[in-house]
Amino acid sequence: MSSASATLSSPQPFRGILRYDEPMRLHTHWRVGGPARMFFVPADRSDLADFLRALDSALPVHFIGLGSNLLVRDQGIDGAVICLGRAFRGVRQLDSGAVEAGAATPCAALAKSCASWGVGPAEFFAGIPGTVGGALSMNAGAFGGETWDSVEAVETIDRQGVEHTRPPSCR
Ligand SMILES: Cc1cc2nc3c(=O)[nH]c(=O)nc-3n(C[C@H](O)[C@H](O)[C@H](O)COP(=O)(O)OP(=O)(O)OC[C@H]3O[C@@H](n4cnc5c(N)ncnc54)[C@H](O)[C@@H]3O)c2cc1C
Repeated sequence: MSSASATLSSPQPFRGILRYDEPMRLHTHWRVGGPARMFFVPADRSDLADFLRALDSALPVHFIGLGSNLLVRDQGIDGAVICLGRAFRGVRQLDSGAVEAGAATPCAALAKSCASWGVGPAEFFAGIPGTVGGALSMNAGAFGGETWDSVEAVETIDRQGVEHTRPPSCR
């Protein structure tokens, strides 16, 4: 259906996993969804930046988490789907007491770490079956708590592969 040369400026050897016509039913909670033209799991931040820079700028890009809020039609997605993997998982407490979480961190893991450090409110994340990236995108919430209530800053990456640190007002 599609070819690497049609969507990437130079077919370079990315270190992550790159697949074509990937069935999205493998990546959604409800196990439905046709093929994504490209599906990429970056090895790390620089791999993600390289991929975004090499991608045809006209091709739509979609980041996904655990697919718990995604319904993909049978025709699939004519674009690049980026699924952040292991390199983007993890939670740590900074010297300031604030908590830094990778976008691919499961919300339940964030809740558990915050509970062990005695910081919050973050208990509500325990019941949300998604990632931190998905929670930010959806402003996920439960039991009166909402994701963006506690956000101090987010790190993002643009289509040129440039990283930005943004305040909550960027939402
Ligand atoms: C049984 C069940 C219970 C649920 N309970 C709740 C609940 O109590 N409260 C609640 O708010 N929601 C709930 N949800 C909905 C869902 O879990 C949340 O919306 C969750 O935040 C989605 O996270 P995800 O990682 O699965 O994102 P996905 O479903 O993969 O994606 C959702 C959206 O986020 C975007 N996105 C995901 N990751 C990134 C990223 N890294 N960067 C940029 N954009 C990204 C996607 O493009 C998409 O638009 C529930 C869903 C199920 C199936």
